[in-house]
Amino acid sequence: MAKIDTRCVHAGYKPGKGEPRQVPIVQSTTFKYETSDQMAKLFDLEESGYFYTRLQNPTVDVTAAQINDLEGGVGAILTSSGQAANLFAVINIAGAGDHIIAANNIYGGTFNLLGVTLPKFGIDITFLKADATDQEIEAAIRPNTKLIFGETLSNPGVEVFDIERWAAVAHKNGLPLIVDNTFATPVLCRPFEWGADIVTHSTTKYIDGHGVSVGGALVDSGNFPWDKYPDRFPGLTTPDESYHGLTYTKKFGKAAYIVKATTHLMRDLGSTQSPQNAFYLHLGLQTLHLRIRRHSQSALKVAQWLKARPEVAWVQYPGLEGDASHALAAKYLPEGCSGVLCFGLKGGRAFDNRFLDALKLTTIETHVADCHTCVLHPASHTHRQLSDEQLKAAGIAPDLIRFSVGLEDPEDIIADLEQALNEAKK
Ligand SMILES: *Cc1c(COP(=O)(O)O)cnc(C)c1O
Repeated sequence: MAKIDTRCVHAGYKPGKGEPRQVPIVQSTTFKYETSDQMAKLFDLEESGYFYTRLQNPTVDVTAAQINDLEGGVGAILTSSGQAANLFAVINIAGAGDHIIAANNIYGGTFNLLGVTLPKFGIDITFLKADATDQEIEAAIRPNTKLIFGETLSNPGVEVFDIERWAAVAHKNGLPLIVDNTFATPVLCRPFEWGADIVTHSTTKYIDGHGVSVGGALVDSGNFPWDKYPDRFPGLTTPDESYHGLTYTKKFGKAAYIVKATTHLMRDLGSTQSPQNAFYLHLGLQTLHLRIRRHSQSALKVAQWLKARPEVAWVQYPGLEGDASHALAAKYLPEGCSGVLCFGLKGGRAFDNRFLDALKLTTIETHVADCHTCVLHPASHTHRQLSDEQLKAAGIAPDLIRFSVGLEDPEDIIADLEQALNEAKK
């Protein structure tokens, strides 16, 4: 198999003779057939083919195949957002009366989805610290537990998830591990290689990389043995009456989970990605390998510079020596830890705000992980809905500043930080 950089450029799309070099945007809701029987076979899942863009579209499929190739899965689908990808990942195998486990340092939107919204639909959750011991994880597992969820690099705390260890505990107890690989991207870490079963992405971040399109992806490793636990995963292992009684594991084997996500969840919930957005992602993926390494190198420089500043109370970046996640980063992210870092200033909330207001090159945005350097204060912005207690439980210090290092020259980024710190002191 070609190396990952080559696959970023080529995976998913191979034009034939006389066909466009860059993937065409198939801006069509539907596709035509010649006979009634041809169409019927599609609806029975007897044949594969395009019929309606909510379910499948050629441009969307190219980008899904590209992400699937990079992650090393058996199949992937694109969703309208990262939120939809995580929702699908969970409810594809968990429903009312079930229980799930998640690391408590995950992205605020996912924390809310799993901790507030899904419980309203009868899915119970236990949040555990990402450094919970194997015994603590096992103690949280119940007979109705369906899955375990964590983030390779947590947003915003950039803590590294010990994928291999969590996967081992999950598998010992007959559970799949779902890993949100948004910040690492498949260039820096491929969770399937460490035992994760399902990977999700907010493609809105580095995969897009330019801040143009909200999107998500769901990737199936094909490795989880659903058949071994038929009582735990009846949706995959028993007949689906909405498809004439077909059984996903029997009919689709290793791809059972991802086929069900398309034919069931995408059909019914419709959080589909537009062909136009899939095109942008396809374009972004072709330079992902260059961008994410540069983001990582610059972020390490910025983190080291901040750490040496007297105004800075603390810096969190797994690439920094002495960081709590440094050893895990050496294992899972040897090529870099993305462009996101966190720090706290010594001057209190008013000083923080003067500092944020004084930044010039760096912009205040509810965003991370694109080519423009940007900054956010979660306690005042994204995580406003959390109480101080919940913030603490989610591992977010009230003084935490989330800083996303872009693709500008790192010296200019550092100069901007320096002038803003000086300005805030006035
Ligand atoms: C942004 C983000 C999400 C949500 O993705 P959207 O595309 O904004 O819906 C989920 N997980 C992580 C780790 C994220 O950073």
